[in-house]
Amino acid sequence: MISPFQGGVYGLFEEYYLSNPDLSRLNLGFWLVLMQTTSQMTYSANFCLTSIFGFLFTLLTVIANAQSGYLTLSGKVINQETGEPIPFAGISVVGRSIGTVSNVVGAFLLKVPNEFERDSLKVSSVGYQSFTQPIILAKNQNLVIRLKTAAITLDEVRVQTRRKTAVDILREAIAAIPRNYDTTSVQMTAFYREDARFDNEPMTFNEAVLSVYKAAYNQSDLKDQMKLLKGRKKNYKLTKYNLPPIINLSNGARNSLMADFIKQPIHKNSILNERNFKNYDFRLSTLMADRTTYVIEIRPGKPKRKSYATGKFYIDAETMAFVRSELQISQAGLDKENRNDWLMKKIASIVYKQNFKLSDFKEVITYTKHGSTWHLNNVERRYEARINSPSRKIVDKIWKVATSFTVTDVVAKGLQPFAEGDIADNRNSMNTLIGEQNDPNFWENYNIQKAVSADSVLEQTPVSSALKNRVGNRLNGFTRADTLRGKLTPLRSNYDVTFYDLAVKVDLENKAISGKNRMRFKVLNPLDKLQIDLYANMAIHRISYAGKPLAYTREFDAVFVQFPEKLKPGSEQELDIEYSGTPQVPDWSVPMMGGFLWDKDQEGHPWVQVVCQGSGASLWWPNKDHLSDEPDSMRISVTVPDGLMNISNGRLLRKTALPDHWTNYEWYVSYPINNYNVTLNIGKYAHRRETYGPDSLTLDYYCMPYNQEKFRWVFDGVKPMLATLEKHYGPYPFPRDGFTLMESLYPMEHQSAVSFGKLPAERADSLTLGDSLRIMQLAWHEVSHEWWGNNVSCRDLADMWIHEAFATYSEGFYLESAVPEDGELGYIASLPPQVIGKEPIIGVRDVNHIHYDIGDLYSKGSLMLYTFRHMLNNDKLWAEILKGIQQRFRLQTVTTTDIVGYINEKTGTDYTWFFDQYLKYTTIPTLEVQLIEKTQDLVVKYRWRADVPNFRMPIRVTKTENHSDFITPTTIWQTMTLPNLTADDFEVDETRFYVKVVEVEPDHPVSGRRP
Ligand SMILES: [Zn+2]
Repeated sequence: MISPFQGGVYGLFEEYYLSNPDLSRLNLGFWLVLMQTTSQMTYSANFCLTSIFGFLFTLLTVIANAQSGYLTLSGKVINQETGEPIPFAGISVVGRSIGTVSNVVGAFLLKVPNEFERDSLKVSSVGYQSFTQPIILAKNQNLVIRLKTAAITLDEVRVQTRRKTAVDILREAIAAIPRNYDTTSVQMTAFYREDARFDNEPMTFNEAVLSVYKAAYNQSDLKDQMKLLKGRKKNYKLTKYNLPPIINLSNGARNSLMADFIKQPIHKNSILNERNFKNYDFRLSTLMADRTTYVIEIRPGKPKRKSYATGKFYIDAETMAFVRSELQISQAGLDKENRNDWLMKKIASIVYKQNFKLSDFKEVITYTKHGSTWHLNNVERRYEARINSPSRKIVDKIWKVATSFTVTDVVAKGLQPFAEGDIADNRNSMNTLIGEQNDPNFWENYNIQKAVSADSVLEQTPVSSALKNRVGNRLNGFTRADTLRGKLTPLRSNYDVTFYDLAVKVDLENKAISGKNRMRFKVLNPLDKLQIDLYANMAIHRISYAGKPLAYTREFDAVFVQFPEKLKPGSEQELDIEYSGTPQVPDWSVPMMGGFLWDKDQEGHPWVQVVCQGSGASLWWPNKDHLSDEPDSMRISVTVPDGLMNISNGRLLRKTALPDHWTNYEWYVSYPINNYNVTLNIGKYAHRRETYGPDSLTLDYYCMPYNQEKFRWVFDGVKPMLATLEKHYGPYPFPRDGFTLMESLYPMEHQSAVSFGKLPAERADSLTLGDSLRIMQLAWHEVSHEWWGNNVSCRDLADMWIHEAFATYSEGFYLESAVPEDGELGYIASLPPQVIGKEPIIGVRDVNHIHYDIGDLYSKGSLMLYTFRHMLNNDKLWAEILKGIQQRFRLQTVTTTDIVGYINEKTGTDYTWFFDQYLKYTTIPTLEVQLIEKTQDLVVKYRWRADVPNFRMPIRVTKTENHSDFITPTTIWQTMTLPNLTADDFEVDETRFYVKVVEVEPDHPVSGRRP
């Protein structure tokens, strides 16, 4: 199954807190207010007076508002497919200049003057289809706006070498700046918020409405200005740490205003400055929504000592305008920032006995279109620094500041700069510029970015409510229900299932099923009670044994069946379970929360499928729902309305017409099968068959009739696909059952009935290369599960990486064949951004641990395999290992220990330390290097830092100019001298090896800086 949360495939994840292309120019607004005490006092005193006047002014404007009047629209913007909130989506009135953006949890508040009531509300965000609705219909206070994700074409530049490169597009966009952005000055209204926290406790909270004078984009010498219209703050007491006002963000609104990178693309440190292109690697992809958008991904180039940021630029394809940037500071950028103002920081550390170090910086900037030009719309910045102060017992505490700068109105053009009141040059913190205020109507009719709660901004997207309430996981603890579902207790291990005979009738009208399962099992230990599983929402009518009903009890999704006598070990027994119910439907907001999909095809015919990987087969039929026990064979009999077909696993034995317009399809699986692989697919399918190989393996292809000709090429790709997979993994594991590939509602690796999801019928005639790559990549992923998941299956979901890491790894074979030059390498390079790094790959055992962000099983899991292969540096041996696992564990269930043990045995080396590091920890190994240039030579010191003791992976680095070779770092520093090499020449192969590389500065002791 493709994880619904796997970013690379569906692009559901967008990193949104990133940093500036021109880091050093801005100095990040990171400012030590050494003279803070005095200046703060002065400003506070001034503001006592201003607040009084401010209050009078407020009263007057409230009265004025009551007369003019406005509507307040509020709601939430979410991803239609996943239900995840979409932060910083633009909310505006069509054709008007007012607007705001959604906050970090997708919520927004927009005040619209009454006279705009007949206008329309528009919600848009890069990567999604825009949404428009008349304001009249949007008056509802709790709008939920669901945006559809844009289609993403994969890494197009790599494929379409003859078309524009990422750099071509960047150059074009830079050249188009004078056309796209205002060449006259404009006045804007903006809302600014700043939330500072120390050690997770709120420290200060400021908000302000500003009037902004924005000088023409083509006149970078003219300064932008801002005036404070109104502002309020709240200061918190951090008595716990006795923290002096030593660190402070300087004027954060000013920093946000200066983050507008369009103004100075030629600045010497800007990523957009041509001379800095060499420091980065640019990659191009395309987002297809109502507007086509180019996405330029920026990664550290070679050399990366001067690549200060990673992230993305988004460029509107029609106008070539920059519409969004998402940047994050890199290690090189952090080092540079931490070196800046080193003296001041040193003084600070002496005076205040406190040391701090910038540890992260992220930024998102968006632009919107008003008329024919684009304007700055929103600047989100997140700063993070690490603070140490031994005298205050502060060790590595985190100081965090989140700032938002949202343009809420673009007022007038061609205005003169402000003659007075400009605070854009004032470097004092916003906190010193504004007063305390608690009036709930403080903002009058000014638009703001909605606060997440009364006075705080959450740092992370909260765990979805479904995850929190319904699902036991590492975060929330596990329940007895999880143990009943996941643990192999004697009530389950005392018997071994040999055969399931499942018969169900599908009632499409009522979205319900009814049926019976006969379970044949072998008694392993004497038993008079056993556990089977069926979701609690499904009714059991009767459980019978030898024709007589048995007593049973139910607890959560477990069913305990009592026999009248003790069953003898070695005997074979049969149990019948009759049941019915309305099976659950998938909840896409929870990973692997499967169920029945009830849908219609393009021609209006019913189309039904069940997917239950993770949730388990017991959501729709009673069985021993534990991965350790697969039946040796199985019959699946499905009754559907006449005119529709059912496709299940294995071979179709017969089709029988039944009275009252029903048809029965009887399928037979002659191999062991995972419970979650058992499936039904009901629809009006077209069928084609061919045979493959010397043993004439039957290949059955099913798809919607309207797709049969248009997507014939997908099925024509099956033979080469099987040939490649067989070459790497050995013969197709289920020849007796034949091989079936079908179009379906959702992709899933159903054994011998593999489905790859819905074909894009509506775009059949205008498929991009990216579309076709994506379809085939998905097909390869699912088909490779026939080896990884179906032939060799995990015994507990904790080890499900064995399915997903290898299936994701297999996608690389396809890209290698489709994109001959470095296709696989390009694919490997696309994986790291998908890694979440929040939970270890190996899950918790005995609790069916699955409903959490499992993306790393795919991305990080496959990166681990690539890293291992490149470390092994012996593709022949690696190929033997892959085939060997398939043979040794053929039709068996395994654990991680089995797989790692086998690899150790085949290589004659104990690699447990390698797999432990990648599978059991969220951090990846870090190679620390120190580069010292000595006349002609480069002295390199290096060591590993890892969680596993004695980590010792060999890795490739530059040894002579343009040539790399292995070194074998350990956790102890080693030194080598590379003749005729400069620091800029030295590279660690971070593509083939999934590791982190940290350069330790030569001017500081390698053991780490002293405070
Ligand atoms: Zn999969």
